[in-house]
Amino acid sequence: MKVLSFSSICLQASFLILSITSVEVHAQENKVSRPKNIILMIGDGMGLAHIHAAHLAKNEILHMEQLQEIGMMTTHSYDNGVTDSGAGGTAIATGNKTRNGMIGMTADSLPTQSMLEIFAAIGKTTGIVVSCAVTHATPASFIAKNINRNNFEEIALDFLNAPVDVVIGGGINHFSARKDKRNLEAELLDKGYGVFRNFQETGLSKYFILTDTVHPPSMVQSRGDYLSQATILALKTLSKNDNGFFLMIEGSQIDWAGHDNDSAYLIQEMIDFDNVVGEVLRFAQEDKNTLVIVTADHETGGLTLFGSYKSRSKFIRLKFTSDDHTAVMVPVMAFGPGSEQFKGFFDNTDLFRKVISVSDN
Ligand code: MG
Ligand code: ZN
Repeated sequence: MKVLSFSSICLQASFLILSITSVEVHAQENKVSRPKNIILMIGDGMGLAHIHAAHLAKNEILHMEQLQEIGMMTTHSYDNGVTDSGAGGTAIATGNKTRNGMIGMTADSLPTQSMLEIFAAIGKTTGIVVSCAVTHATPASFIAKNINRNNFEEIALDFLNAPVDVVIGGGINHFSARKDKRNLEAELLDKGYGVFRNFQETGLSKYFILTDTVHPPSMVQSRGDYLSQATILALKTLSKNDNGFFLMIEGSQIDWAGHDNDSAYLIQEMIDFDNVVGEVLRFAQEDKNTLVIVTADHETGGLTLFGSYKSRSKFIRLKFTSDDHTAVMVPVMAFGPGSEQFKGFFDNTDLFRKVISVSDN
């Protein structure tokens, strides 16, 4: 019997950067549909197996499967074939490959501008909605500049000075139970933000809703429709701007379920994230001027859907091959004006360039 030796197959993923030159040329020739609003949805750790597992568990077509423009994205970081969520978020948010663990900086530790900052500078309203602490790696990549994703209190300070209008997630402790004794919630109030700890119709154009000391609970615990509610609130506020808006929404805990190799947790987080995709699509279909992109920063868990064609069984088991992130490509699904630019194979840094080049400014 032939035994495959996996140790002998060592793929050097880090330096395999797919060229998108031909795609860019194509984009320049056909610049017709330019969205005013951009909603970027990141399922942290969400790979193809995660999507199909949710589809099988729900026994119906997912909202995200209705997005018809599909691409595939490489996710390696500057220094590793397997990215962490800091470098993965930074690649998407800023178009720069960086070292694992870094946030909003190049590999040489230079701060770099995020798409949220670029869109704010041209008059769009901006928002961050997550199911983790807002200071965690993925949301931080759009706001903060730090050599270490774990410097949560420094990252919270960057939120204070960021051009962001709506922030919803956990992380109270990083704002108001700090080593330096500063109360950033009070400082946000001084800066003209509303600051709340529960969901509410604020009527304000700028606010933070920080619901938990660190992370909101998981779906298996008691999070309910937190992420959908937060998304609906943010959309109501941000869409009042005639210049359009940029909103990043993260299904943060799909990744944690993958690390835990916990199938029930994973499927519930996936279905929750997909429900939010449903809410966003409802908005975008009505608005007709909104580009929706659903993707992931990397895959987590090395999840595969295990069965046998010999078994005559329709049962599929979720099987994790890792408790870490993996190097497999992640899907990119897009809807709305400009969505055709997200077809094909590309790198996570190209996603940034595509989003910037397709927007209406
Ligand atoms: Mg994350
Ligand atoms: Zn992770």
